[in-house]
Amino acid sequence: MPEHVVIIGSGPAGWSAAIYAARANLHPIVFEGAITESNRIAGTLPLGQLNLTTEVENYAGFPSGNLAGYIKSAIPEDRQNEFMIEEHPHAVTGPELMNLMRQQATNFGAKIITDDIVSVDLSKRPFVVKSSEGQTVETHTIIISTGARANYLGLPSEERFKNRGVSACAVCDGALPRFRNKPLVVVGGGDSAVEEATYLSKYASTVHMLMRRDVFRASKIMKDRAESNPKIKIHFFREVDEVLGDDKTGVSGIRLKNNQDGTRDEIAATGLFVAIGHTPNTAFLKGQLELNEKGYIKYSTPFRTYTSVPGVFAAGDVADDYYRQAITSAGTGCMAALDAERFLAAEGL
Ligand code: NDP
Repeated sequence: MPEHVVIIGSGPAGWSAAIYAARANLHPIVFEGAITESNRIAGTLPLGQLNLTTEVENYAGFPSGNLAGYIKSAIPEDRQNEFMIEEHPHAVTGPELMNLMRQQATNFGAKIITDDIVSVDLSKRPFVVKSSEGQTVETHTIIISTGARANYLGLPSEERFKNRGVSACAVCDGALPRFRNKPLVVVGGGDSAVEEATYLSKYASTVHMLMRRDVFRASKIMKDRAESNPKIKIHFFREVDEVLGDDKTGVSGIRLKNNQDGTRDEIAATGLFVAIGHTPNTAFLKGQLELNEKGYIKYSTPFRTYTSVPGVFAAGDVADDYYRQAITSAGTGCMAALDAERFLAAEGL
């Protein structure tokens, strides 16, 4: 018997879809992703991008406050090590929020499989999804919520030092000894770059922010945060020309290029953190679904989560290069589950 709903991806969109689909008795299966080194490096581990962040101050319903009691009563003890219970009161953290959502979906009966979907066949119904461990599942509907991952600059020297000083996740790597009390570099001028630089400023001696223009893309509150942090030095019109270092010590400095006059200079740094935007995780779809020019899934109908294939729905960052917020992802996850439920009802399934 084919499944009613398979949900691919485990960020706020995936879990919200799972909560709604499970409550509607559709017995959803969530492929939450595999826990592998390659997913770690790519930033595509289970629980998505929020699991790579610190405090979430703008998710409605989670103000700063004492969440410890709620967490202790709601979450099984063996998962409580994901929570900074002793440090509450504070705003909920990204990993906490994701674990709460995951638990909520589990409580309603969602089945979770910790594996990646590597291919889908959307050419016939029921659809077929295949996992990296060889599992094949037939399903009447699919909700794709695989999100997006951080971009890198694409320099060979950057590739060479991944895991030895080059990172796209300050929260994952920033506390490592190699970065403590050392100068670090963050590339980018968006909210993510400011967030990374602010986080790293807790550990580093100095954080150099490199921006290719003289304008922040970040929101005003984040821009102000960067400008008022005494440990953050902002460099306009600067690009990374090369990551410097050797195989033994990893990153030791960055050669910068001034993109106005072409001059180059070097700064000492033990780390390069790249925060220059994202790429949607749609490679596994391999041309079976209509994507936009940036590779994001295209919605076929305004204010619906319909894709170019009836019965396949998209939610969250995988179909959104504009809002990209936890709460908008969760909202579209809910919408996708309702759309799937109505599709199944209309088809008498
Ligand atoms: P953005 O697209 O907003 O910003 C990307 C930044 O990287 C820009 O400054 C861009 O420069 C720069 N950039 C892009 N490519 C290169 C390159 N090749 N070399 C050098 N610099 C480059 O991405 P973010 O990841 O910062 O944010 C994504 C979304 O997530 C946004 O909607 C943001 O608001 C949201 N977000 C919100 C947070 C919050 O606190 N609410 C925290 C983190 C993210 P340029 O401007 O010149 O194009």
